[in-house]
Amino acid sequence: MTVLKVEDLHKYFGKLYVLKGIDLEVKKGEVISIIGPSGSGKSTFLRCINLLEEYQQGKIYFKGELITHRNINRIRSSIGMVFQQFNLFPHLSVLNNLILAPMKVKNMPKDEAVEKARKLLERVGLIEKINEKPGNLSGGQQQRVAIARALMMDPELMLFDEPTSALDPELVKEVLDVIKDLAQSGMTMLIVTHEMRFARDVSDRVVFMDDGRIVEMGPPEKIFSNPENERTREFLEHFL
Ligand code: ADP
Ligand code: MG
Repeated sequence: MTVLKVEDLHKYFGKLYVLKGIDLEVKKGEVISIIGPSGSGKSTFLRCINLLEEYQQGKIYFKGELITHRNINRIRSSIGMVFQQFNLFPHLSVLNNLILAPMKVKNMPKDEAVEKARKLLERVGLIEKINEKPGNLSGGQQQRVAIARALMMDPELMLFDEPTSALDPELVKEVLDVIKDLAQSGMTMLIVTHEMRFARDVSDRVVFMDDGRIVEMGPPEKIFSNPENERTREFLEHFL
């Protein structure tokens, strides 16, 4: 089954042409990493998927349904997004950060939401922080809470935009481990990352973006060991 299909996506910010015809199909359970230089359009691409950005041309389908302004609220509840900045509500406890959206958007009863939150906090190793405010947590812990919060909605697709870029190096692994666990559980995911070893380990496919285009795409062994494109090669040399 195809979860996401992007066809000929073009996006301008005013006169700045940032996505120059993106085509991508994501099957259920696939994990795709998107790599590429800063400014190549990776974040904009992810943001177009759930209409956080308008685009001028192209079509995006979620499970066969064209995403439009009319159905976006329903579709957004099936697409989890985790950003570089954790975007937790600072005045709410970890628990309340988790249960807010499912109670509001899905009318989930509170006891059910709390039960689900406890399970997810166990899963990301943070049950003991359930009553803390985000400000009392490390960056890595906050990001794990943000992931658990996204999972509260039972998403069918998870989008990660550089989820570890804002973290101190010693906190990166605990977040990558949670994402890896999610990948192994069969979640369909698009992950923008600069963590090349991680991308190599978890991805079914790696997409290299440069200057608004997908320049090269393939299995990680191929992209990392034997890239065909000169720009992919140059980019990866910086990480070796
Ligand atoms: P990446 O995530 O690959 O670093 P982005 O998608 O953030 O790239 O940015 C792609 C291009 O679009 C860059 O030139 C960036 O400066 C520009 N851009 C991103 N967001 C905006 C915005 N809100 N307004 C104008 N230009 C933007
Ligand atoms: Mg970005």
